[in-house]
Amino acid sequence: MRYGIFSDVHGNLEAFQAVLEAYKKENIDTYLCAGDSVGYGANPGECLHLIRELKAQSVAGNHDWAVAGKLDCHYFNRAAQEAVFWTQHQISPEDRNFLSNLDLVYSHDDLILVHGTLYEPACFHYLVEREQADRIFHLMDRNICFIGHTHVPLVLVQDGEGRNILPDSKPSASGGRSKIELDSRPRYIVNVGSVGQPRDGNPSAAYGIYDSDARTFEIHRIAYDIETAQRKILEAGLPEFLAYRLRMGQ
Ligand code: ZN
Repeated sequence: MRYGIFSDVHGNLEAFQAVLEAYKKENIDTYLCAGDSVGYGANPGECLHLIRELKAQSVAGNHDWAVAGKLDCHYFNRAAQEAVFWTQHQISPEDRNFLSNLDLVYSHDDLILVHGTLYEPACFHYLVEREQADRIFHLMDRNICFIGHTHVPLVLVQDGEGRNILPDSKPSASGGRSKIELDSRPRYIVNVGSVGQPRDGNPSAAYGIYDSDARTFEIHRIAYDIETAQRKILEAGLPEFLAYRLRMGQ
């Protein structure tokens, strides 16, 4: 089975369309979305429409729940809060319903999908410390846990000694792809990065491909029409910073 796994589209239609076009050449059987399809970008409704069209199995991100009115966004920074309020006024009742009904965790075959961390998934923690990875590994009843939320691609492995190691999985700055072979024994936490607002210094959209037969995972990067995405953000009256950061990949 070939899974197309992506996260954090954040209403960026230009990035999402580029990713979907690229996926067409990859013989994907099933699509999975690790959350945050809306917030920040100027086309939340269009992105949700595409996700439903793909029949992508999606889990809830903090922005999804905030827009649905299920999460208090007082701890969001000001630009993120403004984007939440703006998005609430853009989307249809059907979209709001869709966001509101997203589950926090999805498990299927050998994989788990969650936006932030497997423990306290409704708190949307950012996975930044080794102790957090240990807590996730401890809770995993499957081989691989796919996440998003930080907008930075990452692969963590729990090896035989229980250590977490980081394989060389960073794609080159020019975009392209990186591929890792997955063992069936250890557990993995894989952050698939962000389609619509990468924050690892590489502005190209990130998306993942997991081949459960070949046991490989790839992170691809693809350039997209950043200028148009920026222009739409500014025309919508969203905070300028949200347009600026797309070019920076931050
Ligand atoms: Zn996000």
